[in-house]
Amino acid sequence: MKQTGFTTTQVHADRKCNSPQDGAVHTASTNSVLFEYKDAQSIVDVFQGKKAGHVYSRSSSGAVTALANQVNLLEKGVGAVCFATGMGALSSTFFSLFKSGDHLIVSQYLFGNTRSLMNTLADMGIQISFVDVTALQSIKEAYQPNTRAVFTETVANPVTQVADIQAIGRYCKERQILLLVDNTMTPPPVFNAQKAGASLIICSLTKYVGGHGNALGGAVIDTGQFDWRQFDNIKPAYQVDDVSQWGLTQIKKKGLRDMGATLAPEAAHKLAVGMETMGLRIPRSCENAKHLATFLDNHPKVDRVYYPGLADHPQHFIAREQMESGYGAILSVDLVNKIDPIAFLNQLELVICATHLGDNRTLALPVASTIFHESGEQERQKMGISDTMIRISVGIEDIDDIIADFAQALDAF
Ligand SMILES: *Cc1c(COP(=O)(O)O)cnc(C)c1O
Repeated sequence: MKQTGFTTTQVHADRKCNSPQDGAVHTASTNSVLFEYKDAQSIVDVFQGKKAGHVYSRSSSGAVTALANQVNLLEKGVGAVCFATGMGALSSTFFSLFKSGDHLIVSQYLFGNTRSLMNTLADMGIQISFVDVTALQSIKEAYQPNTRAVFTETVANPVTQVADIQAIGRYCKERQILLLVDNTMTPPPVFNAQKAGASLIICSLTKYVGGHGNALGGAVIDTGQFDWRQFDNIKPAYQVDDVSQWGLTQIKKKGLRDMGATLAPEAAHKLAVGMETMGLRIPRSCENAKHLATFLDNHPKVDRVYYPGLADHPQHFIAREQMESGYGAILSVDLVNKIDPIAFLNQLELVICATHLGDNRTLALPVASTIFHESGEQERQKMGISDTMIRISVGIEDIDDIIADFAQALDAF
């Protein structure tokens, strides 16, 4: 496909990458689990990887493969695999690539469920060092001879710490280890993880990519920058043909086929439609977030605002340098002393109290008592999460309406 602008590419991606039948502009999503082969030799060839095709929809189907092609184009990779959820993508990747005795350097600022997944990996004999990814030095200090990868999110939720992915990418390249980046919070056009040096990009399609809160999904994209010949854990059966595909082949076989977190074709279609408008929705959410952050930062009833777009954010300069458009659309706030976050959230009329992010609608949530409740106080403190913190995922509504809702809710106290 010749070089076109972001939205042009997205709007025509399905048609161009996947050539749907009969001039359709969307790939058809069939619900067939099985695929008939008139000539039995053909199914043998497909099973043995000598011929392209689908055999059983747990492993692959048309609409899901079409979405994977579009996600791959979005992140400028050399291949992608889709999963039922972002957690499905994460767990499949980690369980497929690493084994007992391996060591991983992992961000200490992680999405709560991912943190819990890391604890499961540790129980199974994978060593994990949780480090402050805003300081490259802490990664260097954690390195061991059996370190296989560094894993971080781009902007952490809810405190919005920003990892210096470019610096981490250079370090991982030097050490010849994988850099796994969860780019859920800052998908293109906000951040180009490939350019920053990620080996694999893992992301929840449920959030900004789908955008409409109507379908779950996840994906892993190989950026083509890691030489899989340097990685001992690829099974001989998957060390075949194009080296750039070895990692994804193992993730597909072990993670998708054996573990089975398969995306449903219907969901794939919804996510593909959502993707078409990323270039309109995401910059709009980011712009709204910046305005709301500035408004809240200047409000006497707000004690602190956490948003990388504010000049006093500890990693503002890293964010400004590495993000290509905006600073994401997640921000968190601590209200002044005695305002109860529950009472405050109940005052909001437009903003929805819900545990989700990256939606068209503006959402808010008290974090310590919900998504980070299971972590306990000590872990929350390490992540910088206060007991009264409220996380806001800013949507695409008209900014005056969003600000008016927060203003009236704050006025009630
Ligand atoms: C939501 C989220 C996930 C998990 O995605 P699901 O699609 O909900 O399973 C993973 N990482 C981050 C950063 C997220 O925000």
